[in-house]
Amino acid sequence: MPEGHTLHRLAAQINTVFAGHPWRVSSPQGRFIAGAQRLDGQVPQHAEAWGKHLFVHLGPEVWQVHLGLYGAFSFRGDADFAAEATVGAPRAAVGTLEPRYAEDGWLIPEPPKGAVRARVSARHGWADLRGPTTCAVLDLTEYQAVVDRLGPDPLRQGISQDARADAQLRELFLHNLSRRRISIAAALMDQAVIAGVGNIYRAESLFLEGLDPYTPSNQLDPERAAPLWDRLTEQLRDGVAEGRIRTVRTGGSRRHWVYKHQGTACPRCGTVIKAAELQGRRLYWCPGCQRD
Ligand SMILES: [Zn+2]
Repeated sequence: MPEGHTLHRLAAQINTVFAGHPWRVSSPQGRFIAGAQRLDGQVPQHAEAWGKHLFVHLGPEVWQVHLGLYGAFSFRGDADFAAEATVGAPRAAVGTLEPRYAEDGWLIPEPPKGAVRARVSARHGWADLRGPTTCAVLDLTEYQAVVDRLGPDPLRQGISQDARADAQLRELFLHNLSRRRISIAAALMDQAVIAGVGNIYRAESLFLEGLDPYTPSNQLDPERAAPLWDRLTEQLRDGVAEGRIRTVRTGGSRRHWVYKHQGTACPRCGTVIKAAELQGRRLYWCPGCQRD
């Protein structure tokens, strides 16, 4: 599943290629026709991410997308369309485009392939959304209700240019942890506790902080929890900058410390890395390094 860094990259990309100009919106697959009609011809003002949700603001309306496990956007366009090919779940690479233009000067998009829930087009290119968990048009009240249910997103630090607001996000994380009796590993995946963390960042942050994933969230000392927030912030920011998750920062080919390394020796202490199911998702940890 795409983790929060992917959604923040996606928001940035949508701002680059779509914001400020009228766009065309359709639903080739047919499952988003009414929503597409509400968005079509409007001007997307700006896109933002909250955890794993993408919101595109168009005045009183907000387009909400959650990619879920399989969703992805693919971007195509001419030389004036600055976009990476895909953002979301990995897709096969696409070939080069021979651009053709309509009389109004707009690039003629290729016919949609597969189940395209939504197609958004600008003058120089388009994006196809396939396989999202959520694709909906919200009013501002509904938008606020979704955001209010989400925990703090480390990647929203710095957006308001207000150090006090950033400190409040961190405090809210500590507060949310103190109110959960579930394990810290389960709490990190609860989007109401912290928004944007997925399975890889969970495993890797707990490893680097030396935290036993089964420690009850409300028994975690704030002096241990605060550096965990900072660690996740650093890891997510690296993910935004690099477009992929690489938590081993010492060079070499290994990208993750414990994620999907179960059954092998921990590179730090030699203990065999373990994996276990926890609430339907796989948890990875080193029992030697993660003791408290
Ligand atoms: Zn270890």
